[in-house]
Amino acid sequence: MNTKFPNGLSYDDVLLVPKYSDIKSRSEITLSVDMGKTLQLDLPLFSSPMDTISEDRMAIAMDKAGGAAIIHRYNSIRQQEELVSKSVSESRNNVGAAIGITGDYLERATAAFNAGATFICVDVAHGHHLMMQKALNRLKKLLGDNYHIMAGNVATLQGVNDLADWGADSVRCNIGGGSICSTRIQTGHGVPGLQTIIDCAQTDRDVKIIADGGIRNSGDIVKAIAAGADAVMCGSLFAGTTESPGDVIMDNSGFRWKTYRGMASKEAQIDWKGKYSSFEGVSTRVPFRGPMEEILFNLEKGIRSGYSYSGARNATELQVVAEFIHQTSAGQSESNTHINQRAW
Ligand code: IMP
Repeated sequence: MNTKFPNGLSYDDVLLVPKYSDIKSRSEITLSVDMGKTLQLDLPLFSSPMDTISEDRMAIAMDKAGGAAIIHRYNSIRQQEELVSKSVSESRNNVGAAIGITGDYLERATAAFNAGATFICVDVAHGHHLMMQKALNRLKKLLGDNYHIMAGNVATLQGVNDLADWGADSVRCNIGGGSICSTRIQTGHGVPGLQTIIDCAQTDRDVKIIADGGIRNSGDIVKAIAAGADAVMCGSLFAGTTESPGDVIMDNSGFRWKTYRGMASKEAQIDWKGKYSSFEGVSTRVPFRGPMEEILFNLEKGIRSGYSYSGARNATELQVVAEFIHQTSAGQSESNTHINQRAW
């Protein structure tokens, strides 16, 4: 055991110091990113492979905005194939499909590939694992070298390097940081979200870094990219929208909600497996928030504004110029809107 512990930074622990800017219009800023092989994005955002986030309607909305959804794998191969096909008719560029690392995952990958998925996401909670190595090895042989394979999740540089060496083109980074996640409480394991990105982005492999989970606003997205992420994956930010799967629930006072749940929650396990073992997520309801178009529009505006405060025209410039400053808890409350806390 180590006896000296490094600091682990979370998104709220830091701010980006504003820098000189000569950007006259936010349209001078490009957010597009080449994730490698079959995956190019105009907006560096993915929606999570979760059954209350990503199905065909989300895939179409994400693709339209320049990002991509990953159709979840909590369904039959046939159902997932159908969801992918429905998205690919209406999509211009990207639709992803999630698979696991046991059972019929090769058959699922083949079906998604044939249905037109432009990339595959090998989606497991602890991706730095021998079984991931075996799965990536087989998937490479099955899908060929030119097809984008995303894998995860990991929380360390070693994890990213190993997954890259095993064949991953991009890696989802963060263990236990998701809004509906209880992994850290249940297992005591994880690394704070921003620290994960700072560490993982040190990789010297040809692999893209995806900041996954714990992202609450465009400010967090800008911090994640400044810390070295190539793209960001969100669940809760896209939960409760018109395009997220599930019904709108109206309560007695007429307020509208939708369900958002962790895929390792008791409720999700019971629905998909008919039983549950240990659970590492929760199920909750979130306010209904309307169409994704508006949410993505506002996020994009916020990200562009963030780049402009650093005087950066693209992610590479942002990563070079970025200067993080540690904020105290007083700084954190100052950073939030705090009008109501003042005694007038
Ligand atoms: P959010 O954007 O903070 O809501 O986090 C979404 C991310 O949480 C997903 O992309 C997954 O990486 C992760 N996740 C999804 N379901 C669970 C779960 O049940 N337990 C732990 N993590 C989860």
